[in-house]
Amino acid sequence: MFKKVWTDPVWSKVISAAIIGLATFIYAIVKSRIDNVSIGEVYEGFLQLKVRIIYVIGGLILFLILKSLTKKKSKSYYSNKQQKLREFNKTTDQDTGIMFRWGVYFNYDKPFISDLEAYCTKHEGSPIRFVGNSCPINNCENHRQSINLHFVKNHIESVLIDNWDKINQK
Ligand SMILES: [Zn+2]
Repeated sequence: MFKKVWTDPVWSKVISAAIIGLATFIYAIVKSRIDNVSIGEVYEGFLQLKVRIIYVIGGLILFLILKSLTKKKSKSYYSNKQQKLREFNKTTDQDTGIMFRWGVYFNYDKPFISDLEAYCTKHEGSPIRFVGNSCPINNCENHRQSINLHFVKNHIESVLIDNWDKINQK
């Protein structure tokens, strides 16, 4: 019963506060007896101590902020394994010359893709992004064929899930 309450994030804080409050109160009574001062004066002393503690904590926080600002690279949102999987974010179909690009994200550690786009690589220069389900260039063979992005998405995600299993088995 106590363990259950103690592990509860809200109740554990309430209990901690109550214990600290009670311990402080008992200490104040004892100290007022020993030093022969009123409990109010003892608490006043606590208050001054508290102010000093706040200064120290404030300084510490400022130090940590400055330290994090001087750090070159902040820690990535994704784990190393997730970053490795995210590197697989484009592929080109050699037969059709269609390149697919996407972003890899995680839903409760299960990979899925978003922003899937198709590009035609059968032209000079940069690959040309599809408009709708085909290449926007009229005389291109990819202009006539229509791709099913839902099908492609499912295929890529199947590969990703398989890769993810393999990464996690290592
Ligand atoms: Zn084209």
